[in-house]
Amino acid sequence: MKQLFAKLYKNSEESFYEILRQNLNENKKMFIVTANPETFIMSEKDEEMKKLLLDKESILVPDGIGVVKAARLLNYDVKERIAGIDIANKLLELGNVSKKTIYLFGAKQEVIDSMKAVLNEKYQGLKLVGSSNGYVQDKDKVFREISKLNPDIILVALGIPIQEKLIYKHLNEFNKGIFVGVGGSFDVISGHKKRAPKIFVKLNLEWLYRIICEPKRIKRFYNNNVKFIFKIKKMK
Ligand code: UDP
Repeated sequence: MKQLFAKLYKNSEESFYEILRQNLNENKKMFIVTANPETFIMSEKDEEMKKLLLDKESILVPDGIGVVKAARLLNYDVKERIAGIDIANKLLELGNVSKKTIYLFGAKQEVIDSMKAVLNEKYQGLKLVGSSNGYVQDKDKVFREISKLNPDIILVALGIPIQEKLIYKHLNEFNKGIFVGVGGSFDVISGHKKRAPKIFVKLNLEWLYRIICEPKRIKRFYNNNVKFIFKIKKMK
């Protein structure tokens, strides 16, 4: 776990967006993993996850406030949380301005349909070259299609760890593209689910809001976060 903390992106959200902008405009390939305590815990029991998280091809961004706090406890100077959904929104915005191409993979078909409507309405400069819902059997086949289309931005909303593993498996078939596993972001951007009110985000309680809205998350949250806190205490 220590290696992951060392690798974590530590600068401000703004400076991260500057890197995004540059890489997008220079057609550089980039693989972003938005890390929360669950990601760190997974790296301990899942070799494939550990490998991809430590690979120099991936950039690890502190998505969960738990990760930011733990990193600080371990004396890493991490500026702030950078939420996956904000990265997704930023990429739509940057791609729109620079007239880039995008592929959307993941979530239910009705969510994808609403995403198309959002793109049509708000991001007319951004060209959607293809999309697939996340419930298709053969997900590798979707990636083979994506590699033919060679888009500038590829958002994969399948949930951790499937989205990260799939991106990592196919990354070498691409010579450009900003790849991000964005979890439930399509559900929110499309308007099918609500993001936490600003006050929750500001107080770093977005996780609490998600649990209140979806109580079935509590087991997943409890398992990962309690384990994470114990591990950090031990490391400290
Ligand atoms: N999902 C999918 N295919 C699947 C399982 C999940 O496309 O086989 C989608 C699901 O519809 C949701 C996203 O993956 O849009 C995962 O969302 P979740 O909120 O669990 O992710 P988190 O943000 O918590 O990582």
